[in-house]
Amino acid sequence: MLVAGNWKMNTDFEGALELAEAVADAVGEPGEGVDVAVCPPAPLLLAVLDTLGESDILLGAQTMHEADSGAYTGESSASMLTSVGCVFVILGHSERRQYFGETDDGVGRKVTQALAHELVPIVCVGETLAEREAGDAEAVVLRQLSGAFGEMEALAAPDAVVVAYEPVWAIGTGRTASPDDAQAMHAAIRAWMTERFGETGADVELLYGGSVKPGNASELFAQPDIDGGLIGGASLDASSFAAIVRAAEAAVDAGT
Ligand code: PEP
Repeated sequence: MLVAGNWKMNTDFEGALELAEAVADAVGEPGEGVDVAVCPPAPLLLAVLDTLGESDILLGAQTMHEADSGAYTGESSASMLTSVGCVFVILGHSERRQYFGETDDGVGRKVTQALAHELVPIVCVGETLAEREAGDAEAVVLRQLSGAFGEMEALAAPDAVVVAYEPVWAIGTGRTASPDDAQAMHAAIRAWMTERFGETGADVELLYGGSVKPGNASELFAQPDIDGGLIGGASLDASSFAAIVRAAEAAVDAGT
C-alpha cells in the first residue's frame, strides 16, 4: 500500500515546514506494508526533506521535464529531483493534462526518463465526466495507459512504477467514485498491466485518487485492486492525512 499526498501549488516556505513537521508527527512510523510520501511544490522539496528528518516519509515531486537538461525555462529534470531526495514523481496528473497541454505520448516520454533515473513515476490516468457519461471511461483510461507505457519494452520490477486512477470529476470536487466503480476500473487497469508486462505488471501498486478523505478511505482501500491513495486536499491537513494512512494500515492488517 502507498499513501501519497499531492500538495499541488499550496504552502510557502514556512507553511511547508509546518505541514511537514505535523505530518511526520501525526503519521509516525508507517505500519508494515505501507509506504507514505508527500509531494510538495518543487522549490520546497529540499526544505521538506530536511524537516522530515529521520521520518520514514518519502519525498515526491509533482511533475518533471522529459529532457536531461537544457533550455527549458522553469522546468525540473529527473536527475535534479533525485539529487534533492525525490523517490517519486507524479506524471500526467489531470491538471497537467488540462492546463499545461500534457499528452498521452508526452507522459510516456516522461515515464521513460523517470525510469532511466530510478525515479518512480506515479502515472495518473482518469476520465472526465463527459467521457464517463458517454460510456468511454475505460477506453480513455486504457488509451492513457498505452501512451504512458508505450515506449517501454519491459518492466524491471513491480515497484518501479505506480499507477493512480483519478477520475477527473472526483478531483477536488468532494465527489468520489463509488468503491465498486473504482474497483471495476482498477481491475481493468490491473488486467491491462498484466497483459502488457506479465506477472511484474500484475503486482504494480494501483492508487485511487479523487476526494479521498478519512471517512471514505477504508471502504476504498478494502477493494482488492486498490493499493492505496493519491491524496490532494486532505493531504494538506496532517490529521486527515494520518487518518488515511491509518486506514491503509488497517487494510493491510485485514489482508486486502
Ligand atoms: C489529486 O489532485 O491528485 C487529488 C486526488 O485531489 P483531491 O484529493 O483533492 O480530490
